Amino acid sequence: MLSLIKLPRVFTINQVPKVFHEDCIISGYRYPHSSATDCVLSLFQLTNETLNIWTHFLPTWYFLWKLVTVVVMQMAWQDSFTWPLLVYLLSCCIYPLASSCAHTFSTMSARARHICFFFDYGALSFYSLGSAVTYSAYIFPDQWVNSVFHRFYIHIAVINTVICTGLACYSRLGLPFLQYNHHTIKRFPECQSPKFSKVVRVVAFAYPYLYDSIPLFYRVFLCVGDGCTDNDTNTLHYNHIALAFFTGFLFATHLPERLAPGSFDYIGHSHQLFHVCGILGTHFQMKAIEQDMLTRRPWLLKNSVAITFSNSVGAALLCLVLNLMIIFVYSLPLLSSSASRDKKTQ
Ligand SMILES: [Zn+2]
Repeated sequence: MLSLIKLPRVFTINQVPKVFHEDCIISGYRYPHSSATDCVLSLFQLTNETLNIWTHFLPTWYFLWKLVTVVVMQMAWQDSFTWPLLVYLLSCCIYPLASSCAHTFSTMSARARHICFFFDYGALSFYSLGSAVTYSAYIFPDQWVNSVFHRFYIHIAVINTVICTGLACYSRLGLPFLQYNHHTIKRFPECQSPKFSKVVRVVAFAYPYLYDSIPLFYRVFLCVGDGCTDNDTNTLHYNHIALAFFTGFLFATHLPERLAPGSFDYIGHSHQLFHVCGILGTHFQMKAIEQDMLTRRPWLLKNSVAITFSNSVGAALLCLVLNLMIIFVYSLPLLSSSASRDKKTQ
């Protein structure tokens, strides 16, 4: 049956423009001007992107199921204590969905590729805010609850998402209109300074993660004495932290394909492992958050900062609007380009 469908051919690294190149991946590239249909068909064909797509597309449905369960079973809208969890679960659905769409449609053109990944970065940034909102509500150690840091923690997290998305988008082409427009790219396109791009992008995502984790790291690694919230959930937090660091390590090092370029083009390259570890990390983070939420609820309701619309759903909406604005500004010079101009951005 499958043989009746003509699948598009795949290419080697020398047959596609530089903007599509991936470090140490030699073969399995899709046609750089694929149609949307060919992009969707490529889900069922082994290319170097296939597992990147599936490793985020399937978890999207698992996280969506979790979100629907909480909304339906726990009547979440009537209980403001659950709102941060809803924001977090929504962010957990959006980031793998945006990523799988970005990996699916990134070979439509060079400009589509950039715009796709701008959305991917925005979604990851939103996930960092989702984490911050739940950490503020359920994770903060007893000692730090109601502190000045706790009161401004979400405000700073919103600002961080702006910095994170801005920096991550900047890492691709530089500043919109100043360093690239629809005719030219004046400074460092990603393919000319890949190391600089990579460092900027790693910093862009490591920084909000580390900021969000300050109360958690204090609680599980540094805190001594009373008020440390040393409970059973800490084991789940350790699992999540270990996976998060391994995820960052894979992203930064490009292992294992760096050791044997061409050997992991289709299965087992670092980006696939990065996706899988990221999802497993999110799974443990979710379990930890739910457990802390359940076991600490009476104490938190009595002693912690009240959960309001503005420090949960409102912060998420603000973050969404700000991030979409940033993505729009970075995409504008590319959107105004024609197909012929697009070739110049390669
Ligand atoms: Zn990815």
